[in-house]
Amino acid sequence: MWQAEARVDLAAISDNVTRLKPASGAELMAVVKADGYGHGMVPAARAALAGGATWLGVCTIEEALGLRAAGITVPVLAWLLAPGLELHRPVAADVDLSAASVPLLDEITAAARQAGKTARVHLKADTGLTRGGAAVADWPALVEAAAKAQADGAIEVIGIWSHFAYADAPGHPTIARQISGFGEALDVAAGFGVRPPYRHLANSAATLTLPQAHFDLVRPGISVYGYSPIPGTTAEYGLRPAMTLRARVMLAKRAPAGAGVSYGHTYHTERETTVAVVPLGYADGISRAASNAGPVQLGGKRRRIAGRVCMDQFAVDVGDDPVRAGDVATVFGPGDDGEPTADDWADLLDTISYEIVTRVGQRVPRVHEPSEER
Ligand SMILES: *Cc1c(COP(=O)(O)O)cnc(C)c1O
Repeated sequence: MWQAEARVDLAAISDNVTRLKPASGAELMAVVKADGYGHGMVPAARAALAGGATWLGVCTIEEALGLRAAGITVPVLAWLLAPGLELHRPVAADVDLSAASVPLLDEITAAARQAGKTARVHLKADTGLTRGGAAVADWPALVEAAAKAQADGAIEVIGIWSHFAYADAPGHPTIARQISGFGEALDVAAGFGVRPPYRHLANSAATLTLPQAHFDLVRPGISVYGYSPIPGTTAEYGLRPAMTLRARVMLAKRAPAGAGVSYGHTYHTERETTVAVVPLGYADGISRAASNAGPVQLGGKRRRIAGRVCMDQFAVDVGDDPVRAGDVATVFGPGDDGEPTADDWADLLDTISYEIVTRVGQRVPRVHEPSEER
């Protein structure tokens, strides 16, 4: 018997990937960083590959090595590298590495020599996000250094890539500027003889709305897990949310009128009622900011959290409905049974579905369906 769980519908992940695959034939890199957006990195990766992904994307070296340790052999790109890491480990494991500066490229070159292998590199250009990526002024020097390292056999430039700032607002003027900036970065690289097989720019939003940004490879993340980054369009794109967060009521009891509920008594019962206690709290990813507000499906109805969300539990006032210990309270899911979605939670908390699904705590078991042993 389970107490609280995040069920993950692996068929939904596979189906979402199939739906996202570009008609142009561009390949698809499923982004499985942050434990597969909270869904479990390895099972999510396998489901995405079953749906037609041919690449996987992560941030850290440990994430990439975790995929390799699970026996996954497809190309994996890791793109968040501080200086001074032991880069011979990912190079030896055939992990593609992103470089946005000459010093990092030098570290990769040295790691390749140490590993006795050619390192696979993706050069990252900043086309307007002003986050990762080489600035326009620094790009020629990076490309020149990469061309030299490639001629020396230390690296192979597999990709040139960039990332959008505003693709979730279709039509925003920065989008066209970034696409043309990316074209200029490719031209500069070609001028140094660097013409890699994979040019990639599109996140979920651009995968869904901007075929002209698909190039050779798209990099969707949130949409793989069934949410559109463009507000209100999840159903329109035929995506299916993969995660259902739910828990069993641990105690349902009658409380008198005027009872203060949970810490600080920020909620008082209006009349005699049943209070159901659900074993999920802010340590499990239920934001404390959802106190007296968070939506929950329980006993066939949509209800709200009563009083403060605690570290490990919250309460729901269910009136005189026959809710009992053991009944299932669904915090969010695909919405089939009237339960809230992660989009509903995101709207309430002034955030995005990404944050709702990734912050489900480690204490909540991920239960994959169908089970991984297929
Ligand atoms: C997270 C991430 C993605 C995926 O973005 P979504 O909006 O979730 O599709 C793609 N590329 C990079 C560089 C990322 O960091």
